[in-house]
Amino acid sequence: MSQKVSKNKSQIFFPPCEVCKGADLKHLFACKAPVHLNVFQYQFDVIKCLTCGFVSARTDQDLRAAKKIYDESFFNTSQQSITENINSTWPEDAKKHAAYRNAVHRIKEIRLWKNAGTLLDIGCGKGIFVHAASRYFDAEGIDVSDYAVAEGRRFGLKLTSGDFREIDFDHHIFDVITMWDVLACFPQPLDIFQKVYNILSPGGLFVFTFPSASSAAFRLLGKRWPMMIPPINVSFYTRKSIFILADKGRFQILRFGYPGKWVESGFLRLKLARSLGIKKSPALKKSGPLSRPLHINLLDIATVFLMKK
Ligand SMILES: [Zn+2]
Repeated sequence: MSQKVSKNKSQIFFPPCEVCKGADLKHLFACKAPVHLNVFQYQFDVIKCLTCGFVSARTDQDLRAAKKIYDESFFNTSQQSITENINSTWPEDAKKHAAYRNAVHRIKEIRLWKNAGTLLDIGCGKGIFVHAASRYFDAEGIDVSDYAVAEGRRFGLKLTSGDFREIDFDHHIFDVITMWDVLACFPQPLDIFQKVYNILSPGGLFVFTFPSASSAAFRLLGKRWPMMIPPINVSFYTRKSIFILADKGRFQILRFGYPGKWVESGFLRLKLARSLGIKKSPALKKSGPLSRPLHINLLDIATVFLMKK
């Protein structure tokens, strides 16, 4: 049943919350896809569920058609740009970089519960995490980007190109499934939790990060919040909405926190410039080898460890 939501004195109908099915919704603001994305200008309405706090960026456009965003230019302005910068020496030199530091730290945390086994990284990009995880796990990854997967495969990584929602895993079961900054990309989280459950071994781990809709950063910055980048991110969770998803998905919550992460200084400058609305600046060109990793924590990205019951 759709819910009538007030927006600029007009009335628009939106379907109920994708997490709790609540119909008490509030229209926060309208926004467009960021101008730097290689995608035409989708319009989004950002809606908050007043029952569980889940915030979603909704559009009439087919988001799956937005796959073309994830081309070479996307990865060259993301944390995953490192394989471009250090080229053929990757992955040895990658160890100095932010994305690799995050990977090593995250694997250390995962190994508190699972020491070894099979691991699937969903939204693996060029496979930095898969490479780091391979030291302990039989690790593989999937990503919608043909470009990123081809790059990772050059280094012998087991990467598959495709949309997680559409891949048939043919009864393949994993002991650990990870999604780093990926859950926000899916508009229907319950379907994702269900599919993850189906391909996890009993007692298996589901570990992910998400942009927090209850953060001060989102409340203060609204549409200028660096995480508010539909159609890359369209789902923003609260602690309450994640607890509901875990409960419905038959997962036990092992850990929920805001540990912060390593970012490249060049990438941080890029994000800041975009938040401030600066489109051209010398600072935007300084990413790459001149970057150095910085540990930051704006308390707006949560990390969650779940265990299949
Ligand atoms: Zn809700």
